[in-house]
Amino acid sequence: MNKHLEQLVKLSKFDKEIVGFEPQIKGQNDKLKVFLKTVEELNDKINKLYNEIDEAKNKRIKNDIHLKELADRIKEINAKYDVVKNEKEAKALQLEEEITKEQIAFANNEIVRLDEITSSKEATLETLKAELATEEADVEELRSAISKNIEDLEAKREEVYKEKSELVEKIDGKVLSFYEKIKRWAGNSAVAPIKNQACYGCHMKLTNRAYSDFLVTEEIFTCPHCGRIIYKETATEE
Ligand SMILES: [Zn+2]
Repeated sequence: MNKHLEQLVKLSKFDKEIVGFEPQIKGQNDKLKVFLKTVEELNDKINKLYNEIDEAKNKRIKNDIHLKELADRIKEINAKYDVVKNEKEAKALQLEEEITKEQIAFANNEIVRLDEITSSKEATLETLKAELATEEADVEELRSAISKNIEDLEAKREEVYKEKSELVEKIDGKVLSFYEKIKRWAGNSAVAPIKNQACYGCHMKLTNRAYSDFLVTEEIFTCPHCGRIIYKETATEE
């Protein structure tokens, strides 16, 4: 292979490799985001539970106060029984007592119900807090593994950059600017192999004439269809 072409094939591979690091690094960060989202969701659930428990407890306090008021009313009713004047008054008093007792029963049931809600929510809260602790530990572990992976990827990328700049220094200026011009529109497929007589940049088949010219040339050859630099792929390359 022509020396210039050989350099461009290598350069194009370095360029491809360098671009390939970005999605890998992003992939690492995305993995962490998934775990952080779980932590966030758990925190939301926990905060919601705290609010609901507070609400149930406040309602219970209100019922406690109400119960005391009702107990006082019963005392008042009992006191009135002593001074009741006639049957009509006695009946009215009896009715008031019944209603008050119903209210007491209702408030007591309500307290039982609220206490059940509180204890059930408190149990869920404990479970969620344990889950959160586990998840947070996982996140920390993952975070350090990920930052290590990213460090490794960045070091590898740095290595490729270095190899690339060493190569660029050796490449003839004109050849390099020819490559750069094609790269502007073709991106990282500026240099494409020919496989089965077809250009792997545009996937068009070379005519027999163009293909035989290509096979014998020692010059840099471009695809007659797309203009990418083309080269014969050797067995050792993928
Ligand atoms: Zn082509």
